[in-house]
Amino acid sequence: MIAVISDIHGNLEALEAVLEDARRERADGVICLGDVVGYGADPNACMDKVWERAQAKVLGNHDAAARDLREAENFNEVAREAIRWTSETLNAVNVERLGDLQYEHVEDATRFVHASPDDPPAWHYILTEQEAWNAFEACPENVCFVGHSHVPLRVVLRDGRLLVLTDEILTVRDEDRALINVGSVGQPRDGDWRASYALWDPARRRAIARRVEYDLEQASRKILEAGLPEILARRLAIGQ
Ligand code: ZN
Repeated sequence: MIAVISDIHGNLEALEAVLEDARRERADGVICLGDVVGYGADPNACMDKVWERAQAKVLGNHDAAARDLREAENFNEVAREAIRWTSETLNAVNVERLGDLQYEHVEDATRFVHASPDDPPAWHYILTEQEAWNAFEACPENVCFVGHSHVPLRVVLRDGRLLVLTDEILTVRDEDRALINVGSVGQPRDGDWRASYALWDPARRRAIARRVEYDLEQASRKILEAGLPEILARRLAIGQ
Protein backbone atom coordinates (compact mmCIF):
# COMPACT_ATOMS: atom_id res chain seq x y z
CA MET A 1 0.00 0.00 0.00
CA ILE A 2 1.30 3.44 -0.85
CA ALA A 3 0.56 6.93 0.46
CA VAL A 4 -0.23 9.41 -2.33
CA ILE A 5 0.47 12.95 -1.15
CA SER A 6 0.20 16.30 -2.92
CA ASP A 7 0.36 20.08 -2.41
CA ILE A 8 2.45 20.13 0.75
CA HIS A 9 3.35 23.78 0.16
CA GLY A 10 6.11 24.08 2.72
CA ASN A 11 3.90 22.98 5.63
CA LEU A 12 6.27 20.70 7.58
CA GLU A 13 3.89 20.10 10.49
CA ALA A 14 1.20 18.78 8.13
CA LEU A 15 3.70 16.69 6.14
CA GLU A 16 5.12 15.03 9.27
CA ALA A 17 1.63 14.24 10.57
CA VAL A 18 0.65 12.67 7.25
CA LEU A 19 3.80 10.56 6.99
CA GLU A 20 3.26 9.37 10.57
CA ASP A 21 -0.36 8.47 9.79
CA ALA A 22 0.75 6.59 6.65
CA ARG A 23 3.33 4.67 8.69
CA ARG A 24 0.69 3.70 11.26
CA GLU A 25 -1.59 2.54 8.43
CA ARG A 26 1.31 0.35 7.22
CA ALA A 27 1.95 2.14 3.93
CA ASP A 28 5.26 0.91 2.54
CA GLY A 29 5.73 3.58 -0.10
CA VAL A 30 5.07 7.24 -0.84
CA ILE A 31 4.36 8.98 -4.14
CA CYS A 32 4.29 12.78 -4.23
CA LEU A 33 2.19 14.64 -6.80
CA GLY A 34 4.08 17.92 -6.51
CA ASP A 35 3.83 21.43 -5.09
CA VAL A 36 6.12 20.53 -2.23
CA VAL A 37 6.96 24.24 -1.88
CA GLY A 38 5.21 27.62 -2.09
CA TYR A 39 3.03 29.36 0.59
CA GLY A 40 4.51 27.70 3.71
CA ALA A 41 7.58 28.49 5.80
CA ASP A 42 9.54 25.22 5.48
CA PRO A 43 10.31 24.57 1.81
CA ASN A 44 13.77 23.05 2.41
CA ALA A 45 12.72 20.75 5.26
CA CYS A 46 9.66 19.58 3.29
CA MET A 47 11.75 18.82 0.21
CA ASP A 48 14.35 16.95 2.28
CA LYS A 49 11.61 14.83 3.87
CA VAL A 50 9.86 14.09 0.57
CA TRP A 51 13.13 13.20 -1.15
CA GLU A 52 13.99 10.91 1.73
CA ARG A 53 10.62 9.14 1.83
CA ALA A 54 9.03 9.20 -1.64
CA GLN A 55 9.96 6.64 -4.26
CA ALA A 56 8.53 8.91 -6.96
CA LYS A 57 7.58 12.57 -7.24
CA VAL A 58 6.36 14.78 -10.07
CA LEU A 59 6.57 18.50 -10.76
CA GLY A 60 3.87 20.92 -9.55
CA ASN A 61 3.27 24.45 -10.82
CA HIS A 62 4.71 26.04 -7.65
CA ASP A 63 7.78 23.80 -7.87
CA ALA A 64 8.18 24.93 -11.48
CA ALA A 65 7.84 28.59 -10.45
CA ALA A 66 10.34 28.18 -7.60
CA ARG A 67 12.98 27.06 -10.09
CA ASP A 68 12.03 29.67 -12.70
CA LEU A 69 10.04 32.72 -11.56
CA ARG A 70 8.76 33.32 -15.10
CA GLU A 71 6.38 30.39 -14.40
CA ALA A 72 4.72 32.55 -11.70
CA GLU A 73 3.39 35.10 -14.19
CA ASN A 74 -0.19 33.80 -13.85
CA PHE A 75 -0.05 33.55 -10.05
CA ASN A 76 -2.05 35.96 -7.90
CA GLU A 77 -0.12 38.53 -5.89
CA VAL A 78 0.05 36.55 -2.65
CA ALA A 79 1.19 33.37 -4.41
CA ARG A 80 3.80 35.34 -6.34
CA GLU A 81 5.16 36.97 -3.20
CA ALA A 82 5.36 33.56 -1.51
CA ILE A 83 7.13 31.93 -4.44
CA ARG A 84 9.65 34.77 -4.60
CA TRP A 85 10.41 34.22 -0.90
CA THR A 86 10.59 30.45 -1.54
CA SER A 87 13.04 30.72 -4.43
CA GLU A 88 15.31 32.94 -2.30
CA THR A 89 15.04 30.51 0.63
CA LEU A 90 15.68 27.22 -1.20
CA ASN A 91 19.22 25.89 -0.92
CA ALA A 92 21.29 24.84 -3.95
CA VAL A 93 20.65 21.13 -3.43
CA ASN A 94 16.88 21.63 -3.50
CA VAL A 95 16.95 23.94 -6.50
CA GLU A 96 18.82 21.22 -8.37
CA ARG A 97 16.32 18.58 -7.21
CA LEU A 98 13.44 20.65 -8.61
CA GLY A 99 15.25 20.77 -11.93
CA ASP A 100 15.15 16.97 -12.16
CA LEU A 101 11.38 16.60 -11.74
CA GLN A 102 9.18 15.31 -14.58
CA TYR A 103 5.50 16.07 -15.17
CA GLU A 104 4.21 12.51 -14.87
CA HIS A 105 4.99 9.14 -13.34
CA VAL A 106 3.48 5.77 -14.32
CA GLU A 107 3.66 2.74 -12.07
CA ASP A 108 1.51 -0.44 -11.86
CA ALA A 109 -0.73 0.76 -14.71
CA THR A 110 -1.50 3.90 -12.71
CA ARG A 111 -0.66 7.49 -13.69
CA PHE A 112 0.47 10.12 -11.20
CA VAL A 113 0.41 13.79 -12.27
CA HIS A 114 0.04 17.16 -10.52
CA ALA A 115 -2.71 18.77 -12.64
CA SER A 116 -4.78 17.21 -15.43
CA PRO A 117 -3.05 14.55 -17.57
CA ASP A 118 -4.57 16.56 -20.43
CA ASP A 119 -1.45 18.61 -21.30
CA PRO A 120 0.34 18.59 -17.89
CA PRO A 121 2.50 21.69 -18.52
CA ALA A 122 -0.72 23.72 -19.00
CA TRP A 123 -1.74 22.96 -15.37
CA HIS A 124 -5.45 22.45 -16.15
CA TYR A 125 -7.75 21.98 -13.17
CA ILE A 126 -10.32 19.18 -13.17
CA LEU A 127 -13.42 20.92 -11.81
CA THR A 128 -16.10 20.35 -14.45
CA GLU A 129 -17.50 17.28 -16.12
CA GLN A 130 -15.90 18.31 -19.41
CA GLU A 131 -12.51 18.61 -17.72
CA ALA A 132 -12.94 15.13 -16.24
CA TRP A 133 -13.71 13.73 -19.71
CA ASN A 134 -10.63 15.50 -21.10
CA ALA A 135 -8.52 13.97 -18.35
CA PHE A 136 -9.82 10.43 -19.00
CA GLU A 137 -9.22 10.87 -22.71
CA ALA A 138 -5.63 11.96 -22.16
CA CYS A 139 -4.79 9.15 -19.73
CA PRO A 140 -4.03 5.69 -21.21
CA GLU A 141 -4.09 4.04 -17.76
CA ASN A 142 -7.35 3.20 -15.97
CA VAL A 143 -6.40 4.92 -12.74
CA CYS A 144 -5.02 8.44 -12.46
CA PHE A 145 -4.04 10.29 -9.28
CA VAL A 146 -3.96 14.11 -9.36
CA GLY A 147 -3.66 17.09 -7.00
CA HIS A 148 -3.54 20.82 -7.82
CA SER A 149 -7.05 21.97 -6.78
CA HIS A 150 -6.45 21.26 -3.05
CA VAL A 151 -9.93 19.67 -2.94
CA PRO A 152 -10.26 15.89 -2.68
CA LEU A 153 -12.40 14.34 -5.42
CA ARG A 154 -13.09 10.84 -6.76
CA VAL A 155 -14.60 10.50 -10.22
CA VAL A 156 -15.31 7.09 -11.71
CA LEU A 157 -16.21 6.35 -15.31
CA ARG A 158 -18.55 3.35 -15.04
CA ASP A 159 -20.86 2.04 -17.79
CA GLY A 160 -20.20 5.18 -19.83
CA ARG A 161 -21.26 7.52 -17.01
CA LEU A 162 -19.25 9.81 -14.78
CA LEU A 163 -19.91 9.26 -11.08
CA VAL A 164 -18.62 11.42 -8.24
CA LEU A 165 -18.14 9.10 -5.26
CA THR A 166 -17.82 10.45 -1.73
CA ASP A 167 -17.33 7.30 0.36
CA GLU A 168 -14.09 7.18 2.30
CA ILE A 169 -13.13 3.95 0.57
CA LEU A 170 -13.24 3.60 -3.21
CA THR A 171 -12.81 0.19 -4.79
CA VAL A 172 -11.98 0.55 -8.46
CA ARG A 173 -13.69 -2.27 -10.36
CA ASP A 174 -11.87 -3.97 -13.25
CA GLU A 175 -14.07 -2.25 -15.83
CA ASP A 176 -13.89 1.17 -14.10
CA ARG A 177 -11.70 4.11 -14.90
CA ALA A 178 -10.93 6.35 -11.93
CA LEU A 179 -9.63 9.86 -11.39
CA ILE A 180 -8.60 10.50 -7.81
CA ASN A 181 -7.70 13.92 -6.42
CA VAL A 182 -5.97 13.32 -3.10
CA GLY A 183 -6.48 16.89 -1.83
CA SER A 184 -3.74 18.93 -0.19
CA VAL A 185 -1.44 18.05 2.69
CA GLY A 186 -0.38 21.59 3.53
CA GLN A 187 -3.20 23.92 2.46
CA PRO A 188 -6.61 22.18 2.10
CA ARG A 189 -9.33 24.28 0.46
CA ASP A 190 -12.47 22.22 1.05
CA GLY A 191 -13.35 23.86 4.36
CA ASP A 192 -11.64 21.15 6.45
CA TRP A 193 -8.34 22.33 7.95
CA ARG A 194 -6.95 18.80 8.41
CA ALA A 195 -4.23 17.54 6.06
CA SER A 196 -5.59 15.44 3.19
CA TYR A 197 -3.98 12.50 1.37
CA ALA A 198 -4.90 9.04 0.06
CA LEU A 199 -3.76 5.51 0.64
CA TRP A 200 -3.68 3.33 -2.50
CA ASP A 201 -3.58 -0.43 -2.49
CA PRO A 202 -2.74 -1.40 -6.09
CA ALA A 203 -3.34 -5.13 -5.49
CA ARG A 204 -6.90 -4.61 -4.21
CA ARG A 205 -7.38 -1.48 -6.35
CA ARG A 206 -8.61 0.37 -3.29
CA ALA A 207 -8.18 4.06 -2.49
CA ILE A 208 -8.79 5.34 1.03
CA ALA A 209 -9.25 9.07 1.71
CA ARG A 210 -7.43 10.19 4.87
CA ARG A 211 -7.65 13.40 6.97
CA VAL A 212 -5.02 14.07 9.61
CA GLU A 213 -4.80 16.71 12.35
CA TYR A 214 -1.50 18.53 12.71
CA ASP A 215 0.07 21.39 14.71
CA LEU A 216 -1.80 24.17 12.94
CA GLU A 217 -0.67 26.84 15.40
CA GLN A 218 3.00 26.18 14.82
CA ALA A 219 2.68 26.09 11.02
CA SER A 220 0.77 29.39 11.09
CA ARG A 221 3.22 31.04 13.48
CA LYS A 222 6.18 30.12 11.26
CA ILE A 223 4.48 31.72 8.24
CA LEU A 224 4.10 35.00 10.14
CA GLU A 225 7.64 34.83 11.52
CA ALA A 226 9.03 34.30 8.02
CA GLY A 227 7.37 37.55 6.92
CA LEU A 228 5.13 35.76 4.42
CA PRO A 229 1.69 37.28 3.69
CA GLU A 230 -0.51 37.02 6.79
CA ILE A 231 -3.44 35.59 4.83
CA LEU A 232 -1.39 32.42 4.24
CA ALA A 233 -1.36 31.75 7.98
CA ARG A 234 -5.04 32.65 8.48
CA ARG A 235 -6.39 30.51 5.65
CA LEU A 236 -4.90 27.31 7.12
CA ALA A 237 -7.28 27.43 10.08
CA ILE A 238 -10.41 27.58 7.90
CA GLY A 239 -9.23 25.16 5.22
CA GLN A 240 -9.48 27.67 2.40
ZN1 ZN B 1 -0.88 23.51 -4.97
